Amino acid sequence: MLINFQQYSSLKIGGAVEVETIADRGFDPAPFFIVGNARNLLVSNSPPPLAVLDRSFDYCRVEGEVLVAGGKTPSGKLVSLCKRADLGGLEFLCGLPGSLGGLIAMNAGLKDRSVFDRLLWVDFGRGAIDAACIERGYRRASLEGVVFEAAFRLERGFDRALEALFMAIRAAHPKEPSAGSCFKNPIGGYAGGLIEAVGLRGFVRGGAAFSGKHANFLVNLGGATFEQAMWLIDEAKRRVLDSFDIALETEIKIV
Ligand SMILES: Cc1cc2nc3c(=O)[nH]c(=O)nc-3n(C[C@H](O)[C@H](O)[C@H](O)COP(=O)(O)OP(=O)(O)OC[C@H]3O[C@@H](n4cnc5c(N)ncnc54)[C@H](O)[C@@H]3O)c2cc1C
Repeated sequence: MLINFQQYSSLKIGGAVEVETIADRGFDPAPFFIVGNARNLLVSNSPPPLAVLDRSFDYCRVEGEVLVAGGKTPSGKLVSLCKRADLGGLEFLCGLPGSLGGLIAMNAGLKDRSVFDRLLWVDFGRGAIDAACIERGYRRASLEGVVFEAAFRLERGFDRALEALFMAIRAAHPKEPSAGSCFKNPIGGYAGGLIEAVGLRGFVRGGAAFSGKHANFLVNLGGATFEQAMWLIDEAKRRVLDSFDIALETEIKIV
């Protein structure tokens, strides 16, 4: 299928690319970069071969206090089901965009919560693998293939106060198209503070900028190109390394 990443991705950057559709669990992901909902991607005009799960993997259901979902299910749908079923544990996904597969691959989270806290098992196409056996860390996980399905162990009681807290944090984020945090926070520090310290908060390059509201958000002010976004990323890395001897690592996946 043809995907126009200028429309599909949250950063609104990239061209129209032919993307393989993954229709069944026998799919061999070897040559492909797997695209979820492109909420954490900066896509060039000549990406490697791409593949995306088809809509049949967009589903979720509750079995007691366990939530089972397909890899393409958006976070908003997971949260809605938790609310309806009055289950707690995934409140931090309120306003955190992405598909289940992307959330697991990124071990996405907010504050001191992340996806693996509640993850029970993941099916990469050959049956359920215990989540405890999957190596993961801050905004990363070592996955052995495509996330087709996964399950979370939740608890009784969706916490509306937590939901309100996470939504308030979201409300303070930049409104322009972005992919969330551009860089991971280095140990003991904040990427946003470092970007500000090297004079790049609010810095504009063509249609791309580091937000004046939140320096670690790379935003598209309108018509930003891959090259402009990459220039800003490289400039921030260079300046932070020169000034603080800290090597910033992108949280955004550059494809
Ligand atoms: C406004 C905004 C706010 C954000 N806030 C946060 C935040 O607070 N915390 C946070 O952690 N992130 C945040 N993000 C980033 C983003 O929401 C997460 O990284 C999310 O997990 C991306 O999911 P996705 O489906 O869009 O994955 P994509 O962006 O499409 O892909 C991300 C990674 O997941 C892999 N992947 C995707 N699907 C699968 C699959 N089925 N199987 C295997 N691998 C797969 C891709 O190969 C890639 O490596 C934010 C983004 C935006 C736009």
